[in-house]
Amino acid sequence: MKTITPDDVIGRVEKGLLIAGRWRPAADDATFAVHDPATGRPLCEVADATPADAAAALDAAHAAQAEWAAVPPRRRAEILRRAHDLLLERVEEFALLITAEMGKSLDESRAEVRYGAGYLRWFGEEAVRIDGTWKVSEDGTARVLVTRQPVGPCLLITPWNAPLAMPARKIGPAVAAGCTMVVKPAPQTPLTTAALAGVLAEAGLPDGVLNVVPTTRAAAVTEPLLRDGRLRKLSFTGSTPVGRLLLAQAAGTVLRTSMELGGNAPFIVCEDADLDAAVDGAMTAKLRNIGEACIAANRFHVHAGVAEEFTRRLTARMEALTLGPGTDPATDLGPLIDERQRRRVAGLVGDAIAAGARVRTGAVLPDGPGYFYPPTVLTGVPSDTRITREEIFGPVAAIQTFTTEDEALRAANDTEFGLVGYLYTRDVNRALRMSERLETGMVGLNRGYVSDPSAPFGGMKQSGIGREGGNTGIDEYLEQKYLAIDMA
Ligand code: NAD
Repeated sequence: MKTITPDDVIGRVEKGLLIAGRWRPAADDATFAVHDPATGRPLCEVADATPADAAAALDAAHAAQAEWAAVPPRRRAEILRRAHDLLLERVEEFALLITAEMGKSLDESRAEVRYGAGYLRWFGEEAVRIDGTWKVSEDGTARVLVTRQPVGPCLLITPWNAPLAMPARKIGPAVAAGCTMVVKPAPQTPLTTAALAGVLAEAGLPDGVLNVVPTTRAAAVTEPLLRDGRLRKLSFTGSTPVGRLLLAQAAGTVLRTSMELGGNAPFIVCEDADLDAAVDGAMTAKLRNIGEACIAANRFHVHAGVAEEFTRRLTARMEALTLGPGTDPATDLGPLIDERQRRRVAGLVGDAIAAGARVRTGAVLPDGPGYFYPPTVLTGVPSDTRITREEIFGPVAAIQTFTTEDEALRAANDTEFGLVGYLYTRDVNRALRMSERLETGMVGLNRGYVSDPSAPFGGMKQSGIGREGGNTGIDEYLEQKYLAIDMA
């Protein structure tokens, strides 16, 4: 049997825009290059949508909405389940595609395919459980019937760091709820989204329900859509600054929005923590996705009594990792997405060192092609440096120490972000006390991993608005409608 190669899967994937069920070039025939982060070399060219193309995509979504909303829930569920099954049958192909354009190791890409597919299955199961309520009004003169219906055409804007899971987490509930959509993937990783759209079409999704417009002209393409009254919902995953900008634009039409924005996760290790578990959890929370995850541990707060031992063990584990192209089976850690991101991480580390932080390992850029950054551990990081304020998005652990619970919580909450916090302690009361006081939407309690289709994913403060997944994830795509029925 011939083994499939990245070139095979890249050769097969559609490179156009998907509008009303047809793949087509951009209106002005423009294209842009997708690059391999492990080499910096271009992989292929993809159509670069214009504002006119985006308008055509919204036309298609709007035209398909009424008919799609009338499709029985069981049918919508079956499409999602079939798409889930197809993804699992093609884990290898999708993993190669993700690794080719995003860089992470094939093992991590395989895990992302399973994780992303899980959202399609989960929301397929939710599609047939959309219900309403019925009750007698307070004064008995009316009946209160509450039903739910799809919000309508949605704009889904996704980042590059999880090119399959991020669109799947939005497309799944939108399909389940009966919404049509226009998807704008990140320009670094349009191929996986195109392949996912292909799988959904193969699974039976009708033409026009899902339209895809990759583009390098994001603002010019999405801003007119946000002003168009036919668009009923924006779901965005990306950085907090772009989220703020989109919220301001969405205000013009009082558009419903869901925002999954940046994070600055604290990772707290108490004096009584199981250090083996804490180091394992730190490796996952810090290095999953090469540190390019909104839920990546950003600031390590370690009790002074165990800080040296924790740092020594974490440093040893980090030093044992192999940096290399994601396609190499020996690779633990792939490259960062691009040179801009690599320079940003190097800048944050340089700034921390200038402020007095000590390098325990890493911090030296490797020679050669690709956007590699070594696993890095810093200690003695002052609390008011850029590296503790900003999202690192790279494999750098910045360690600070604390002596009291209050001090740890104050430091952990001292950020505009509030997506996730990690907490390691063996004391049940302390675990509950501290979890309650962490200003984050999610807490990993003795666990370095919180992502799960059955759980509500999302943040407090400037990490976002709304939740994806869990029992309430579908609500983001549904309107409630109340009928007052006169009984007098
Ligand atoms: P980004 O904000 O630069 O881009 C995200 C998306 O928005 C891309 O598709 C991009 O093309 C588009 N975009 C950029 N400027 C735009 C504009 N003016 N108008 C319309 N669209 C625009 O973020 P990124 O670098 O692609 O992704 C990394 C960020 O995403 C990090 O901050 C990370 O924390 C965040 N993220 C959050 C979650 C979450 O669930 N909270 C998950 C993954 C990533």
